[in-house]
Amino acid sequence: MSDTVKYLLDESRLPKTWYNINADLPKPMAPVLHPGTQQPVTPDDLAPLFPRAVIEQEMSTEREIEIPEPVREVYRQWRPSPLYRARRLEKALGTPARIYYKYEGVSPTGSHKPNTAIPQAFYNKQEGVKRITTETGAGQWGSSLALAGALFGLEIVVYMVRVSFQQKPYRRAFMETFGAQCIPSPSDTTEAGRAILGKNPDSTGSLGIAISEAVEMAAQRDDTKYALGSVLNHVLLHQTVIGLEAMEQLAMADDYPDMVIGCTGGGSNFAGIVFPFLGEQLRGGRKVDVIAVEPSACPTLTKGRFAYDFGDTAHLTPLTKMHTLGSAFVPPGFHAGGLRYHGMAPQVSHLADLGYIDPRAYNQIECFQAGIQFAKAEGIIPAPEANHAVKGAIDEALKCKESGEAKTILFNLCGHGNFDMQAYTDFLAGKLEELEYDEGEAAMALAGLPSVNA
Ligand SMILES: *Cc1c(COP(=O)(O)O)cnc(C)c1O
Repeated sequence: MSDTVKYLLDESRLPKTWYNINADLPKPMAPVLHPGTQQPVTPDDLAPLFPRAVIEQEMSTEREIEIPEPVREVYRQWRPSPLYRARRLEKALGTPARIYYKYEGVSPTGSHKPNTAIPQAFYNKQEGVKRITTETGAGQWGSSLALAGALFGLEIVVYMVRVSFQQKPYRRAFMETFGAQCIPSPSDTTEAGRAILGKNPDSTGSLGIAISEAVEMAAQRDDTKYALGSVLNHVLLHQTVIGLEAMEQLAMADDYPDMVIGCTGGGSNFAGIVFPFLGEQLRGGRKVDVIAVEPSACPTLTKGRFAYDFGDTAHLTPLTKMHTLGSAFVPPGFHAGGLRYHGMAPQVSHLADLGYIDPRAYNQIECFQAGIQFAKAEGIIPAPEANHAVKGAIDEALKCKESGEAKTILFNLCGHGNFDMQAYTDFLAGKLEELEYDEGEAAMALAGLPSVNA
């Protein structure tokens, strides 16, 4: 195989099924609870918000779940995504490690998000839904759902965290080009939004607030449902197409990772690349070291508590057991907008609690430094979120340099940074601060965790 080969799979080898790690968990997950009764939620409880097919996937313990053909048809436009060997980066680092990265920036919106936006739109359309509401932080998810809405003929309403709405006018134009409506959150279109604005008219918003608004809007109308771009089991399931492809591509290169690395906001791109390998290990196969990299300004896995919490600020969502900084926690304004959520996917949290995941936190300056080193060697400018995974991979490669071990490192380059040049501009101008989270604020938010008898 040539040195520069990028291990593209034949498109006919696009996976036919997603991988559901619930089939292989050594210990079952804690149940999701109804916020009123604190009893385990039933499919009927979730029916106002999600289509049946999605609820089934959310609760399924079947190992392999079929990817519908109309979804595969859209996936084929950019999938299988390339797996690259980062030879020039290896050389620049002087490491004996082999570094591979799976590149999700080749999707039409530049990140991994369409991997779940497409099937979610498909299932809604199939069940007669006309309109989907959602929230977006940096705009990656809103853009991806807007794209999916255009492809399947659905109206999309996106509540965008106000600070991002103001900072990223191009993201809004991107969504509107696909025909979606983009509303800055908090807004006066919902009770949740009006309540926040009543207390603080200058609120810059948060993901938790935007989720409250989108959920409230979806619950109001029968033809409207809600979609989430991360955290939930079905989202992580859809993202496993990343790891399943990577596994085949590495087999073509006659290699297997010693470690798999991803950045964690809500946990979906991380789970997407990691779960197929972790599943192999849980079924008695090869062991992999799994590293989750998060921002030290929103350190959910490294500093959060593993406890029942709400997914949103207004407490409209079910209670899930997860690593959380408390639903009232608002992180300081760092540049990786996709990594600002107060909670973490319950599946990722559960596996971290069982000791299968090694979490790390880095500040944004060291992450941008890593991202720029990567860009200079590999020619791709990573999204600020992806810089966290790059930093994790570079650190591991440098450890190999010290020890002389030629380990195989796989990481997920979950998106490009071409829409995030303001963040790079600020970094290059020396305007970024290291930014740590406010321990007092986190302690207060954690003190507000709901008391659950389960
Ligand atoms: C949304 C997003 C993230 C964070 O979400 P996860 O569910 O943790 O993957 C990270 N990177 C990019 C590029 C994103 O768009």
